[in-house]
Amino acid sequence: MHLARFPRAHFAHLPTPLEAAPRLGEALGGVNLFVKRDDCTGLAGGGNKTRKLEFLVGEALARGADTLVTQGAVQSNHVRQTAAAAARFGLACEVILETRTGSKAEDYNENGNVLLDRLLGAALRTVPGGSDMNAALEETAQAVRDRGGKPYVIPGGGSNAIGALGYADCARELMVQADAMGLKIDQIVTATGSAGTQAGLVAGLAVVGADVPVLGIGVRAPRPTQEGNVFKLAQETAALLGHPDRVAREQVVADCDYVGEGYGLVDQAVIEALKLAARTEGLLLDPVYSGKAMKGLIALAAQGRFECRTVVFLHTGGAQGLFGYQSELEGKLA
Ligand SMILES: *Cc1c(COP(=O)(O)O)cnc(C)c1O
Repeated sequence: MHLARFPRAHFAHLPTPLEAAPRLGEALGGVNLFVKRDDCTGLAGGGNKTRKLEFLVGEALARGADTLVTQGAVQSNHVRQTAAAAARFGLACEVILETRTGSKAEDYNENGNVLLDRLLGAALRTVPGGSDMNAALEETAQAVRDRGGKPYVIPGGGSNAIGALGYADCARELMVQADAMGLKIDQIVTATGSAGTQAGLVAGLAVVGADVPVLGIGVRAPRPTQEGNVFKLAQETAALLGHPDRVAREQVVADCDYVGEGYGLVDQAVIEALKLAARTEGLLLDPVYSGKAMKGLIALAAQGRFECRTVVFLHTGGAQGLFGYQSELEGKLA
């Protein structure tokens, strides 16, 4: 794997720590648990989109773009990190927010990531849930062109092969850390949504030849769709790295049984997961992604799935979104 072949803007705080989480591991019934702290990537609150944005912004700058155009759900962490990356390189940032959860709550629509998007200077436009977001991206890019600008379009979640290079690099980084610590990892667990994180990890592990299984916990799509999306993107990412045939279908596993009512909708098990991580390790998870992944980890651990195993939970960040869920969480944190 030779990542210097790709344009990259350096702004993430790397490597992120790989920390033991013994109290949470014990609460899970005896899991040797470690947390890869990608909530600490350093860009305006951090999170997993920062690694992807190093490669996406690298390409945008190499192409002479002056405006980043992207989309996401209202409480998108990806949008916040894109707005911050744009600010850092003096680029404009045009955002389309999809009211995907249908929430009318004021904190959901104005606090949390939305407040930070505005603070970071992004231009926000909102469209109804179920809108054609790719068409909206193209429309916005055309409007930028029409006024003489040079847009660079970043897909939702930064999930294309360029963005996924960030997680191929994370896979390499994690293996270096584990080897230095003498840690034999049995399983990596991560939230999976727009697929770039899991796809990048799978591609990176395959290309460096580390046979560590990755389990994605789905936050939106049913399993066949999610695994299909991850596999396709993992193949594209491995191909970009010069190894088109390296990723096998069996290396892509997503468990989508913990989505609950739907994307961005919080249930009691998610709240219990947020509380457990906070109260055993002082870890702040989020209600949409890392909290749902932890809900899955807790349920699978209770089935004895990880007993005496060494598990790395990839903390993908998102705690800034907690402030968009105040009204949902209020009274339920006792
Ligand atoms: C976007 C996001 C994810 C999901 O990552 P994908 O690459 O979209 O699958 C997980 N956790 C957080 C906090 C996120 O913002």
